[in-house]
Amino acid sequence: MRGFGVVEMGKLAWLERPDYECGDFDAILKPLAVAACSSDVHSGLEYPHLKDTILGHESLGTVIEVGKCVKDFKPGDRVIIPCTTPTWWHPEFQDTTHQDAGGMLQGINFSNYEDGTFAEQIKVRSADMNLAHLPETITLEQGVMITDMVTTGFHGPELGEIKYGDSIVVFGIGPVGLMAVAGSALRGAGKLIGVGTRPVCVELAKEYGATDIISYKEGDLGTQIMDLTHGRGVDCAIVAGGDAATLNTALAVTRPNGFLVNLNVFTGISKIEFDYLASGAGLMGHKTIRGGLCPGGRRRVERLVSIVEAGRFDPGKMVTHRFHGLEKIEDAFWLMAKKPRDLIKPVVFFE
Ligand code: NDP
Ligand code: ZN
Repeated sequence: MRGFGVVEMGKLAWLERPDYECGDFDAILKPLAVAACSSDVHSGLEYPHLKDTILGHESLGTVIEVGKCVKDFKPGDRVIIPCTTPTWWHPEFQDTTHQDAGGMLQGINFSNYEDGTFAEQIKVRSADMNLAHLPETITLEQGVMITDMVTTGFHGPELGEIKYGDSIVVFGIGPVGLMAVAGSALRGAGKLIGVGTRPVCVELAKEYGATDIISYKEGDLGTQIMDLTHGRGVDCAIVAGGDAATLNTALAVTRPNGFLVNLNVFTGISKIEFDYLASGAGLMGHKTIRGGLCPGGRRRVERLVSIVEAGRFDPGKMVTHRFHGLEKIEDAFWLMAKKPRDLIKPVVFFE
């Protein structure tokens, strides 16, 4: 079988692999829909350590084979494959987040520790724990957005412990930030400020619940946010775009006892420094700083499906570009790398 991936940093190619062998707890699938992600771009073009690895981690699939210990899935089933697919055997599960069981960030196997899903075949370990059935009530667009964008974006307001009426700023309203906006609105945010400029994203951010949109290209962001919050600052700042300096702006506008949550992946830097005053004279300002990797697991996916089924928001609206067939994965990847201004998410369909 073949898949699209990274030979070495900056060199992308179709890679040949033997067909997968199915272990007792595994499922082998063929793709039904895959989306390209900003994280694929980081992996393909910006990570010196990543070599000879098939990319891709946002996918729906059709089961073609299951191991003899898999109970709830059978060949022909259409499923949602979360981007984080840990092997659910580690004793660390009793002590840590599932994303980190087995070692920090080890839960995100696809295109980190094993081949990803931009391929003719996809292998998922611990199938009963990782996969979720794709119900007929939701579309392929909605399903594939749940695998990463929804679960990651919603993790922002979760980590920020948003309460009814909290004031929020989301730095970056690409697909991750848009889902942080939607998740914050669902958790009862009051003022909800989005930062970004692409018109397609601005429109959708408002539809998902943003009360104000500001531009990082027009004036100091910190001043704009303090003005919008009458000098108080926000209860929670979620970072889903920008650079390391954005973290300091976010920290500065986070009020004491507030939360700064980072979802962004920073590349090309070796350390992050925090501003002395913004942090409260050296991290004494009672501001909680958190970050997190996209939660996976079957129950997580089933919960997110139930929100979409209930019609509370429509993540499928983020799909702006559609392709068909395996070969088009390459086009979707490069589109994501170039990020034209009318792009939010590109999806490749297989039927
Ligand atoms: P996009 O590139 O689509 O969106 C980035 C957003 O940030 C845009 O709205 C952009 O504005 C805005 N932006 C750019 N510069 C600044 C700035 N200086 N200050 C504030 N905002 C700025 O990215 P994605 O939404 O696809 O992904 C965001 C990040 O999340 C990526 O790094 C990705 O790798 C990461 N990620 C993290 C995951 C996790 O598990 N934590 C999972 C998946 C992705 P404009 O409208 O002008 O383009
Ligand atoms: Zn992704």
